[in-house]
Amino acid sequence: MDCIFCKIIAGEIPSDKVYEDENVLAFRDINPQAPVHVLIVPKKHMRNILECDAQTAAAVTEAVGKVARQEGVSVSGFRVVTNCGRDGAQSVEHLHFHLLGGDKLSESMA
Ligand code: AMP
Repeated sequence: MDCIFCKIIAGEIPSDKVYEDENVLAFRDINPQAPVHVLIVPKKHMRNILECDAQTAAAVTEAVGKVARQEGVSVSGFRVVTNCGRDGAQSVEHLHFHLLGGDKLSESMA
């Protein structure tokens, strides 16, 4: 499958890894939109949140907390976003969650 995030998970493409466990890999976004911009990615390939199962959702949620604490934004706050499909401006068709923080984010969501 020609999926860039699957290749990152397989170690075929380098990434700036910040967290990994059995189910999840987290690495810095190559084009950061905030001082902290980490992508939290389930290792199992699924296209978007519509394909996300409960076990994956739990694993991602746990990873969000770990990454937020590790990156020092758990107290100041942060945002978690997943884009889905064309109107959601999803550019990589492997489910991922953007964790953004390290500064006051825009109050606009779109
Ligand atoms: P989305 O537009 O929600 O699908 O987000 C995809 C994100 O993946 C974008 O923010 C890109 O900057 C990021 N991205 C694409 N390729 C890489 C890569 N090789 N390493 C890290 N981040 C990447």
